[in-house]
Amino acid sequence: MSVSHRAVVAGGGIGGLATAAALASSGLAVTVIERAARIEDVGSGLLLYQNGIAAADAISSRLGAGIRAAGHVVGPDEVRVLMDSAGRVLTREPIGEMGRRLGLPQVPILRTALQNLLLREAAAAGADIRLGTAVEGYDQDGGQVSVRLSDGTTLDSDVLVAADGLNSAVRAAMLRDGPPQYLGYTSVRGRTVGSELHPRSFVVNGVGVQIFVAPADGETLYWTAKITSPPGVWPAMGQEGALAALLGRIAGWHEPVVRVIRAAAPADLSVTDIHDRDPVSCWVDARVALLGDAAHPMAPAMGQGANTAIEDAVVLAESLRACADPGEALIRYQAQRVGRTARIVLHSRSQGALDQGASREHARVRDGAMRQRGRKDAATLDVVDWRPGTAVPLTEADWVRTIPVRRTGADAAGA
Ligand SMILES: Cc1cc2nc3c(=O)[nH]c(=O)nc-3n(C[C@H](O)[C@H](O)[C@H](O)COP(=O)(O)OP(=O)(O)OC[C@H]3O[C@@H](n4cnc5c(N)ncnc54)[C@H](O)[C@@H]3O)c2cc1C
Repeated sequence: MSVSHRAVVAGGGIGGLATAAALASSGLAVTVIERAARIEDVGSGLLLYQNGIAAADAISSRLGAGIRAAGHVVGPDEVRVLMDSAGRVLTREPIGEMGRRLGLPQVPILRTALQNLLLREAAAAGADIRLGTAVEGYDQDGGQVSVRLSDGTTLDSDVLVAADGLNSAVRAAMLRDGPPQYLGYTSVRGRTVGSELHPRSFVVNGVGVQIFVAPADGETLYWTAKITSPPGVWPAMGQEGALAALLGRIAGWHEPVVRVIRAAAPADLSVTDIHDRDPVSCWVDARVALLGDAAHPMAPAMGQGANTAIEDAVVLAESLRACADPGEALIRYQAQRVGRTARIVLHSRSQGALDQGASREHARVRDGAMRQRGRKDAATLDVVDWRPGTAVPLTEADWVRTIPVRRTGADAAGA
């Protein structure tokens, strides 16, 4: 594709900004439409695995270097300590050794730092980023997409990439497959500066609660607590209420862990229920493609949502470079991504259910599995060895629901 091709990206989250950077540096004229008025400071962190680092490096070596400089590069001898709520060690996962074997490190990083790096990269590559406007739908005619915006205007483009997250408006218009499903647990995420446990990385297992902690830079630990609960309960508590309730749930746990959570500022907390969707085979409607959580929302158990969104961005850019026809490029992108992400969605769902240890018996099984395996997740190694240029076609073993595109062209106008 040449610079005469235009792409609109719906959503300026991790997937949207990575896509904007990858497409703009491939020569497309890119406009990002982000609903939020500001790219906000988001309190917690996330873990970039080797596959996400390789994808970021493929977007640009400056981006890869920026991530390594801003985050915590896991050293060759580092371990993640997996323990029970009393602080008894179940096993020590050799996360540094895994990096040595794979030739790239894991890099936990603050979300805000990653968002800012991606924003800078997208802007430097020439992407135009418009804040405070939402994408509401699209129409297609004769190889052009007309993107309908919340300010009443439309934007014409050759391609629309929907990176508008879990509750994607574009997906709703394309597939009409209803809301995502609640997985039975919620998440409270925060960060703690200056903890005595920095820079250690650990997972703490309780009954119906699991806490993941990792260093995100030279002074900050970020943490995620996943709590078994009916939907809506924890988000309704607000930040202070959720922190107090979490401290109540972990009262009596290993005291250094409790101190990490107690020292977090409530204003930094994110409280969100956890959802996913059954994998589907269709992410493309002519010149419109889904990406990131809009395409394959997943439980955070394997820490792969953002990593695979950055992979999507790289493969989409590769496909648009390889095919003169944008419609063919989107089909090529879909063919390379559906099978791989379907497997990760399903692994993440079962790993997430195991991680919760929702009853005493389930917790015993989970702790035993970790002790025996010597690591937290069953399938991580098979997932993080992805590198750009690796084609991962759909296999018969993949369980993917076939959903036809429900509305195209003028039919989507009323969505
Ligand atoms: C508890 C938890 C822990 C996690 N940990 C990890 C981890 O360690 N590693 C990892 O890889 N992943 C992790 N994830 C997953 C990761 O956060 C997501 O997969 C990732 O953020 C998805 O990026 P995205 O850009 O697709 O969607 P989002 O980050 O949701 O971004 C979507 C963007 O679109 C905007 N938007 C929404 N609707 C519209 C619209 N109509 N028009 C315009 N803009 C719109 C939103 O404002 C937002 O900015 C975790 C998730 C959770 C819940």
